[in-house]
Amino acid sequence: MSQPCAIENCKRASRALCHCCHQNLCRDHLNQHDDMLNAKLIPFTDEINQLDDRLRHIDVKYILEHTHEQLDQWRRESYRKIDEYIDDRKRKLTENINFQIHNASDGITRLKAIISQLIEKQDTTVDDLNAISRNIQSIRQEITQVEYKMIDLNISPLEIDHRLIRLGEEYVKHDFNLSTLMPPFHIINRSPESHKPVTTNNKVLLMHLQNQLCLFNQELQFIKGIPWNYAWIWDMCWSSTLSRFFIITRNEIFILDENTMTLECLQKEDNYSLCACTCSDISFYVIVVIKTFVEII
Ligand SMILES: [Zn+2]
Ligand SMILES: [Zn+2]
Repeated sequence: MSQPCAIENCKRASRALCHCCHQNLCRDHLNQHDDMLNAKLIPFTDEINQLDDRLRHIDVKYILEHTHEQLDQWRRESYRKIDEYIDDRKRKLTENINFQIHNASDGITRLKAIISQLIEKQDTTVDDLNAISRNIQSIRQEITQVEYKMIDLNISPLEIDHRLIRLGEEYVKHDFNLSTLMPPFHIINRSPESHKPVTTNNKVLLMHLQNQLCLFNQELQFIKGIPWNYAWIWDMCWSSTLSRFFIITRNEIFILDENTMTLECLQKEDNYSLCACTCSDISFYVIVVIKTFVEII
């Protein structure tokens, strides 16, 4: 016997069960109900169009104007600091050379005076001559250094520390809004017998479906599958280092090559019961029922 229509004061018998709100409705009220739900889409469409319009009218140049000005200001100040630094080094270099020239000049003046005195005294010894010779040699070296620009310059390239300017969200590659999940864009119907774990390698999604290990692409379309004739799958994970999926049952660890779809049993474990796994770049972690965190690889 059919149920009465769920709408108050409606005497008609229901014709259908609305799956979205689980109400039994007569034909008229089902149509009304349907129209009402569909009508609610219109404000959403308007709202989405408004958002789309706002998005398309965003003037990126205008938004970035002030930030670009700050960066340009930073660049001008940095250039100025480099200019000041180089000017300072040049000044120091000139000072050094002038000091060397002055030093050599002093030496020459001193030597001239000594030689004049010795000529005047006419009392020159071998030691005097040796000392004068050593002084001349030293002055010659100083002059040669200046003449041939033998200046030790030890220049290191200027390394720019990229942390000098931090962009607020530089490391946020994708802007996910986790506060509201979008409605599902595709649904894969799985039977209660399907093993629960699911994992991905950013290219394909791996799950158990109808006695098969199946790969789906990012649009959740089936790509390929192989029969699964083993025990209940407790967990699965992807190793980017090995480019393989790990699959664990209670007592076995398998690896799956997504390209060839070959499955290999790595290890049988009779002493522990495996229940969860995950991978880092260098390790494969497995949780076992004795509740110990075991690093196997
Ligand atoms: Zn409904
Ligand atoms: Zn009704």
